[in-house]
Amino acid sequence: MVETMVDNAVEASEWLRDYVDVEFYPNQLFQFGGHSVKRALIPKGHTGAEVIGKFAKKAEEVGLPVHTNTTAQRLLKDDKGRVIGVEATKNGKKITYHANKGVVIATGGFSANVEMRKKYNPELDERYGTTGHAGGTGDGIVMAEKIKASTKNLGYIQSYPICNPETGAIALIADARFFGAILVNQQGKRFVEELDRRDVISHAILDQTGRYAYVLWNKDIDDVAGTVDMHPGEFADLNSRGLMFKVDTLEEAAEKFNIPVKALQATVKDVNHYAATGKDEAFNHRAGLVDLSKGPYWIMKATPSVHHTMGGIATNTKAQVLDQHDKVIPGLYAAGEVTGLTHGTNRLGGNAYTDIIVFGRIAGMQAAISK
Ligand SMILES: Cc1cc2nc3c(=O)[nH]c(=O)nc-3n(C[C@H](O)[C@H](O)[C@H](O)COP(=O)(O)OP(=O)(O)OC[C@H]3O[C@@H](n4cnc5c(N)ncnc54)[C@H](O)[C@@H]3O)c2cc1C
Repeated sequence: MVETMVDNAVEASEWLRDYVDVEFYPNQLFQFGGHSVKRALIPKGHTGAEVIGKFAKKAEEVGLPVHTNTTAQRLLKDDKGRVIGVEATKNGKKITYHANKGVVIATGGFSANVEMRKKYNPELDERYGTTGHAGGTGDGIVMAEKIKASTKNLGYIQSYPICNPETGAIALIADARFFGAILVNQQGKRFVEELDRRDVISHAILDQTGRYAYVLWNKDIDDVAGTVDMHPGEFADLNSRGLMFKVDTLEEAAEKFNIPVKALQATVKDVNHYAATGKDEAFNHRAGLVDLSKGPYWIMKATPSVHHTMGGIATNTKAQVLDQHDKVIPGLYAAGEVTGLTHGTNRLGGNAYTDIIVFGRIAGMQAAISK
């Protein structure tokens, strides 16, 4: 599954660019947490809106109907076991969709379903918010299980380390971390390599006093990262909640959150030394630290939030859904976060889009040629 995903990744991105008309930043690859090199493409605006907007436009152009606010409830099978449609409801009215070629389940993960999260990973209870949308209910997994599809890895649930502690929303403004922003705890000390995997950083944050951390960066970093100008709404929201500030000095940064000033200054002194020597002796920062001696600074309080569910429906490399004996369920395909075999225990940044586009295309093509 992983080979299929990576072998088709470049072609999938070219298809997005050339057919769907998605605009990517030409010279800006990201080195997300866990990446060994810069490798993630970034769409215009730095969010999924560019991709979804262009898909909506393309669907209209090719005359593909999209039925929103319509809830799929049940997969329909014929007496030979082939999936032949879906039963759904809209405004309380039942609708039956008949599918000659097949049904593709693409209902996403279950980050927003706290009961389902707890069932498979009790640690991820009500204390965690989610970065995802309210539709992440796991419905597709439940529907597939009802017709005896196999599911895998449901206990592997990813938290994103840097989120709004009050709402659970992801803090894209703090993507300055990928350009050198550091993480410190309430004692003003670094405690983890800032570019480690999401699960490693999340667990490290939860081990700190109060289960939160602070992200700190300066203008030199922002000049390269540009995240402050890119996400002004996030700054306004976090600032109004007392969770993020722009300040001129480290003293002010420490004061805002009651961090011991001297400890924070000592941490930054060490970081500046590691930036100068090119060797982070404390946590071995893989991209190299950046000098933080000049203000102004941005400091944000952050905590992990549930971000992605790696487990889901078992599929093969043709995106066909497998039953509990690993046999193909005819007429049924699945792609995206609803599936469970592409990300192992923890998804790398950028790989969800790779997964949904690669396997979404395969599912569509397989359904189109199915007899
Ligand atoms: C804040 C955030 C930032 C992210 N950033 C990145 C990134 O930089 N790179 C990356 O690769 N990935 C990223 N991801 C992950 C990625 O966005 C998701 O994994 C991906 O969108 C999943 O796509 P999907 O089509 O499988 O499911 P979704 O996008 O979740 O879509 C599923 C849809 O199905 C609908 N649905 C659910 N149940 C039913 C039902 N019963 N009937 C009808 N409809 C239903 C849902 O409402 C939803 O609209 C990010 C995720 C979040 C939350």
